Amino acid sequence: MKCLRCGKELSGTGAFCEACSVTVAEPLTPSPYLNTKISIPKRKPAAKAKKPEGKKSSGRDLSRPRVAVCLVAILLCAFLLLQLYYSYERYTKAEAEVARLRSVEDECVHLTDLLRQAEGRIVALEEALAREAAP
Ligand SMILES: [Zn+2]
Repeated sequence: MKCLRCGKELSGTGAFCEACSVTVAEPLTPSPYLNTKISIPKRKPAAKAKKPEGKKSSGRDLSRPRVAVCLVAILLCAFLLLQLYYSYERYTKAEAEVARLRSVEDECVHLTDLLRQAEGRIVALEEALAREAAP
């Protein structure tokens, strides 16, 4: 199998060679110059001509890596969807927590106002008492 990006022959399983898998792992930043079209090199007819009696087996050998690549892609999509779902869930929870904290903050401000009013009344009462006690 060949690397989907550079076309280099792959030794192990996977869609990309070692050099390309590092590059491919990082998502590209959106750009008007970015070309997302994937070009897959055409199969050479010479490979079929070599084994005329074993056509079916060679067809299976070629389809197996494709199935593996599809499975990997499906798993990757499922994983990314799960990540998206969990991050959305975390976001909504954080939003609810922010709303709760805001209401607590509003209550604190209200209570602080009440406390200031009560302090003002206490000072006024103390002054009145001092005036009554003095002859
Ligand atoms: Zn490559």
